[in-house]
Amino acid sequence: MFLKKENHKIDLLKKNYEARLLFNFDNNSGFLFFFGKKMNLILTNNSNQEIIIDSNSITMPLIEGYHNQVIFFYNYIIKKYYNFFNNLVFEILEQDFKYKKENLVFCLKFLKTKLGICYYQKNKIVLNVFLIHLNLTAIKFIITHEILHLKYHKHDQLFKKNLLKKFPLNYYNIKNILDKISI
Ligand SMILES: [Zn+2]
Repeated sequence: MFLKKENHKIDLLKKNYEARLLFNFDNNSGFLFFFGKKMNLILTNNSNQEIIIDSNSITMPLIEGYHNQVIFFYNYIIKKYYNFFNNLVFEILEQDFKYKKENLVFCLKFLKTKLGICYYQKNKIVLNVFLIHLNLTAIKFIITHEILHLKYHKHDQLFKKNLLKKFPLNYYNIKNILDKISI
């Protein structure tokens, strides 16, 4: 059983990020975007089965209800990809920003409306597990954005200038990133 609260979060995710463009399925098949790549989703009746991710497909047990299926997948990602995202955050922090932030706390979880949050007073960065759908450039963009907030708290000119210096691409907000990926 899953909590209502989690269902609510997924509803918000769907609404905010048009999640069904990235993760959609019916009774036994569908697709999902995994690191920006469209993967076939195979749902099996074997409830004991682990999630198997290969180069073109993801196989996982069929679970009753859209929300439960989605949460099952995200819980798996939180467990298995925590280190991946954690390492990426520290890599960008140390390489791109030339400073090492001691005691930075990193967290990967469901977030209602944002892809990432920086609690600069607490020296904490939280990333949304939903990032698993985006390509690596988009993920790095979000991480860079949050890391910059450790220093620049508001989305002011200085913040934008520094972010665009790191990412001289013609997109700024996440809607544009998602549009690129879902097309
Ligand atoms: Zn921000």
